[in-house]
Amino acid sequence: MDTAFNTTKEFAEALDKADVLHHVRDRFYIQPHEIYMDGNSLGLASKDAEASLLNALEVWKKEGIKIWNIEDSKYYHYSKHIASQMAPLIGVESDEVVIVGSTTSNIHQALSTFYEPTDKKYKILVDDLNFPTDRYAVDSQVRQKGLDPKNAVKVVKSSDGVFIDEDAIIEAMTDDVALILLPTVLYRSAQVLDMKKLTMAAKERDIIIGWDLCHAIGAIEMDLTQIDADFAVWCTYKYLSGGPGATAGLYINKRHFNRNPGTAGWFGNKDETQFQLNHTFEHQPDASGWQVGTPNILSMAPLEGVLNIFNEIGMHAIRNKSLHITAYLMYLIDEKLSDYGYSVGNLRDDFKRGGHVCLVHNEAYRISLALKDKGVIPDFREPNVIRLAPIALYTSYEEVYKVVEILEEIAQDHLYEQYSNKRGLVV
Ligand SMILES: *Cc1c(COP(=O)(O)O)cnc(C)c1O
Repeated sequence: MDTAFNTTKEFAEALDKADVLHHVRDRFYIQPHEIYMDGNSLGLASKDAEASLLNALEVWKKEGIKIWNIEDSKYYHYSKHIASQMAPLIGVESDEVVIVGSTTSNIHQALSTFYEPTDKKYKILVDDLNFPTDRYAVDSQVRQKGLDPKNAVKVVKSSDGVFIDEDAIIEAMTDDVALILLPTVLYRSAQVLDMKKLTMAAKERDIIIGWDLCHAIGAIEMDLTQIDADFAVWCTYKYLSGGPGATAGLYINKRHFNRNPGTAGWFGNKDETQFQLNHTFEHQPDASGWQVGTPNILSMAPLEGVLNIFNEIGMHAIRNKSLHITAYLMYLIDEKLSDYGYSVGNLRDDFKRGGHVCLVHNEAYRISLALKDKGVIPDFREPNVIRLAPIALYTSYEEVYKVVEILEEIAQDHLYEQYSNKRGLVV
């Protein structure tokens, strides 16, 4: 990767010319006069996603209930269909993936499947930097087993509130730990945890381990087969651009296919007997057995279109562009913004950072408001972080250049001082 950058606008234009993914941007809905840097929270809509969504809608309009039978029962088996497009992104087999629920409900599903506390081995190990919903789900699953989270949830604490020390996690894998849930990419600082090392350490200690891939899928390359974790969960509306609240993903390692889903439902029944409507659940022994109710066709359909883009290009090329364009952004921050109190808050090594750049400033909140008024969509995370995510599929180098120019202007002219520090509902 060539990271000999310079700070001119012409250089940004030249980078766009040389970018083999530059044209992919035309498949997305980019608003004129707006620079979208928030694809790590909600990915932009694509024409491909729109087409597959409208197609599902047409089928419903024309066919009514027959939607379940046409096209070789594609929509009845829609989870399998989309799982086969999703699996290559994380390096697993199609039958190990189910498209169902939300990340949070899939954590509940996974924990109720895998968490089997005994007197001696009953703790769930987590970190204190993960997104809060993961913790809420863990605590409530622990309570369901009649245990007290104060005692049964073991928290590895970050020493600086920004990064997690992998060795501290391994040290915390004591005999009383039954299960571990960790994020692959930390949502605030973009730190990438070494899934292979941590999963191996868990397995050596006979501990079930699952990964939250929310900020990793569609951003970094993964080979979960080689990593051999027990389960993983992820949402599909961030880097994957599946649409607001798009149906989420759950990976069940095939060695667990014979387990019973913790929260079972009729769509997890074997196909052959599902419509016999028997009152005895017959578990489909692959990941699709972890479906619960009727698939959310309209919340899955955009994925069918957008995942074609991911598979055409492949995660290797996507990650390469992402690393390059984020390196360019960090370079510009260092060169042009460091005199104004801005700094890069993420780790610099390629294998240690995810898809966004973590821009730190004491006035981050008010700067994020000023950015919005200047047509840049960032997101702010407490207490002092602006996350900037140049997305490989649709962000241009010129846009990155412009964002840095605007950040410079906001700080130089103290434009943020016009804004209040009072937080809005969705920050
Ligand atoms: C985005 C995100 C979620 C979101 O959960 P939902 O159930 O989709 O609302 C959960 N965990 C992590 C780590 C996330 O980044």
